[in-house]
Amino acid sequence: MELKKGRLLCCERVDSLVALVLLAFSLISCSRQASKSPEPRGMSLEELQQMLKIDVHAHISDFGNTGEEQFIALLEKHNFKWLDICVVGTEWEKLQRKVTLAEMFHRTYPLRIAWATSFNLTNWGNPAWEKSALAMIGQGFARGAVAVKFWKEIGMVLKDPNGRYVMIDDPRFDPLFDLIQKNGKTAVAHIGEPYNCWLPLDSMTVDGDRRYFKEHPQYHGYLHPEIPGYWEQIKARDNVLAKHPGLRVVGCHLGSLEFSVDELAKRLDLYPHFAVDTAARIVHFQVQDREKVRNFILKYQDRLLYGTDNDVGRGGTDLADDLKGCEEVYRRDYRYFATDQEIELPEIRANFKVRGLALPAPVLKKIYYENAVKWFPGI
Ligand SMILES: [Zn+2]
Repeated sequence: MELKKGRLLCCERVDSLVALVLLAFSLISCSRQASKSPEPRGMSLEELQQMLKIDVHAHISDFGNTGEEQFIALLEKHNFKWLDICVVGTEWEKLQRKVTLAEMFHRTYPLRIAWATSFNLTNWGNPAWEKSALAMIGQGFARGAVAVKFWKEIGMVLKDPNGRYVMIDDPRFDPLFDLIQKNGKTAVAHIGEPYNCWLPLDSMTVDGDRRYFKEHPQYHGYLHPEIPGYWEQIKARDNVLAKHPGLRVVGCHLGSLEFSVDELAKRLDLYPHFAVDTAARIVHFQVQDREKVRNFILKYQDRLLYGTDNDVGRGGTDLADDLKGCEEVYRRDYRYFATDQEIELPEIRANFKVRGLALPAPVLKKIYYENAVKWFPGI
């Protein structure tokens, strides 16, 4: 019995020793596996081109009788759907033309074109303004619009009769936000301009901004101290987010906080119903620290939507040139987000190079498609 007990003890010891050794082996192999694949795999350029994607910030400006087929062929080649965003409320006829075109494209190519409506601002101050704006938005929803655009003219151009600039947190816009929320749609807000806008041309961080504000001095905040400043624009937009916590808002152009992922992160933390598109501001990611930007994108991967500000059918430009430009933007961005290749970016400045972010496939799927579906229901 004693002996048996001893054998038993001995066997137990051997068993537990074996168990310990097995545990140690499994821990080592686990940690080896973890160090081998710290992140899910990425995506090849071909896979990314073929995957269904949504460009949530694009514009169909004008079209003659030809060219539609080439335009749709480009979207098919890159498997993109566009969210065509209609602007400008302070140019009523132009806005009406764009809305008519957007409706037509959406009706004809529902799988390739979604659209966002807007509203008239030329009758601002008229007692009928609110009613007309609400009616136009309602009509847009009835015709398939998934969002409503608020443009930078609010805060930078639109004035009351007393000469004061009208800001986006003006209570007169509240009924519009309420209507959007009630219909389960999304507000698209391009409020303010890049931080560079309030700097002299030679202090701007990217050549693209330098060129734009040289060509559009009316929007160059630095030259117009009478226009409310950068932080006043951001504050007014933040006030809207605070005032309408049930409203989904997509901030265009990285929410006009393009110059600092830290500033953008603060708002994303504060306002869970706020997301941003990347339109025409990826260069501002590219001038910031690569690892910092990559970590920011991984952390806020549910709040970033791919957009370009691509524009087709602008008056005075050749459609073939527009389409070539769109394709160049798409290919350059595939390389930046999906690979770790070195990319030359003359639009930032001559000889400027950046290494791609090589994002994991699940993150690419969110930024290029899944987030758009979530933030723009019905798109
Ligand atoms: Zn735009």
